[in-house]
Parts: sequence; structure tokens; C-alpha cells
Amino acid sequence: MRYVYGPVPSRRLGWSLGVDLIPAKTCTFNCIYCQLGKSRTVTLERSEYVPFDAVEKEIRETLACRPDYITISGSGEPTLYSRLGELLERIRSLTDVPLAVLTNGSLFWREEVRAELKAASLVIPSLDAGNADMFAVINRPHGDLDFDQVVQGLVDFRESFAGQIWLEILLVASFTANPKEIGDLVRCVERIRPDRVQLNTVTRPPAEECALAVPTDELREYAQLFRPVAEVIGEAPSTHARRRCADITQDILGLIRRRPCTLQDVANGLGIHVLEAVKHLEILTADARVHSTVIGSKVFYMARS
Ligand code: SF4
Repeated sequence: MRYVYGPVPSRRLGWSLGVDLIPAKTCTFNCIYCQLGKSRTVTLERSEYVPFDAVEKEIRETLACRPDYITISGSGEPTLYSRLGELLERIRSLTDVPLAVLTNGSLFWREEVRAELKAASLVIPSLDAGNADMFAVINRPHGDLDFDQVVQGLVDFRESFAGQIWLEILLVASFTANPKEIGDLVRCVERIRPDRVQLNTVTRPPAEECALAVPTDELREYAQLFRPVAEVIGEAPSTHARRRCADITQDILGLIRRRPCTLQDVANGLGIHVLEAVKHLEILTADARVHSTVIGSKVFYMARS
């Protein structure tokens, strides 16, 4: 499997079958907090980055696992995939499993992107800054992206989209976790009118060391200022109920290739016992296929490219 991974337990979506349509770190942004490192390609060009037929084949082969969601996300910005709308329609014709799209929302000002997303049941866009200056600092967008245009795209999407919109806001200490920046974000959210607002912070090794986490009690205080009141996103559920039989080594690599994971993340993500995860990670580390880094009190595992 090159383009489909999981199902993995998601903090928000239960068991989620991930679909990755974009080569690693090809994005419209280069966020300072990105868990995938610095963007290799910052672009606005939409393209069939991976072969449509191969993606569809992998999805057909994994549908029997009955995930709670099929989630278009992965290693870059999924709305850069030029056949996204066609793919969503195709998946819809194959299954009644709800379809979610995780996106940075930066291309919603394009009418064709808003139209393509209509086949999704749930769209989770992000908005990490409430003004153009902070947008430039946190998201480091492509030079042709304009903050007001991006926010207006989200407002227009709300007007046309009948499904659920959960707006994710990732707060970074010393940058956006202060009353002035929160006030600007609150005003943007009032215009966008999402069904839910979800507050997140830096929980995995970021692209830049200056991107620090906001304490949970502070997130909870800020959450009260949004309408609807924001949810503070928790950790993934712990479970050892493995849902698919597959090659665990490949599954571990598939998981940590897309995001750095702690030992517990790997165990939870694959539904295996933590000791089994240790055994496989030790072998992968000895083979130099995996390396680790310590952030705060946590050890994160990453795949070597
Ligand atoms: S966090 Fe998301 S939007 Fe930001 S650079 Fe990484 S992949 Fe792109």
C-alpha cells in the first residue's frame, strides 16, 4: 500500500482509513509547527501527483476493514490533487463509509475546489492566524496567497457546503496564544460559522524549534471565547484491538512516515501491545530504517527517507 494507510485510531474520527494523495511535504504552506518538517515544495499548482487508478485500487482493496471514516489527508495539502473531486465521487459510489477531508483551507477561494469538496461528509479546514501578519509568520504561505482571500474562501465554502465543517485552530505559544491574536481569530470564526471549532497545539516535533506547545489549561480558557465554544482536542484512544491482519513492520513504517510517533502512538495506531511495538521499533532502528528524537519528555520515532 503506497497511498492508503490504516485504519488508525484518530482523535476525532474513530478508526480512520487514511488516503495520501500528495508527495511528502508538497504544500501551499510551510508552517513553523509542521510535524512533517519543512515543506520541500511550496506550490499552488494542482496536479495528479499520484496515479488516480492506483489510489482507487488500494481503496477498493482495503474497504473490507470497515473504517469509521475514509480520510483524505497525508503528507501535504490534499486540495492540490487535481482529481480530488473525481476521487471523492468514486469513493462515494463504492461505499457508504463517511468521507472526511483534512485541509489547510488555503485554496477554498477557488470555486472549483469548493465544488469538488461537495462529495465529502466532513471537511476539517485549519485557520491558525486571525490576521495577515501572523498568517505570514505561522503558516509561511506561498507568495501568491492572500490572507483575506483565504478567509473569504472559508466563508464562501460555508455558504455552499451542506456537510459538517470542523475548523481546527492550532495555537503556538509566544505567537498566537495571547488575547490580541485570539480576538482576531474569534472574529474570523464568527464570519466562517463552522459547525465545530477545535483547538489544538504543538504535540509533535515541529519544523522550527520556536514552535512551542500551549498548556492545556490555557487552551481550555481560550476555548470559551469561541462561538461555538471550542473543543480542546485530546489524545488518541488507547486500544489493543487490532483491526486488520497485515505486515506490522510495513504498517509501522507507513504510520511514522506520515507523522512522528511515540511508542504509545505506534501501539495505539496499530492496535498492538506496547511491547510488540518496542520489538519492531528496535529492529527498524537497528536496520537504520527508523530514527528517534527526544522532545520534552517524549521520544518520537521517524522513518528515514
Ligand atoms: S502543517 Fe499542514 S498545512 Fe502546514 S506545512 Fe504542514 S502539511 Fe502544510
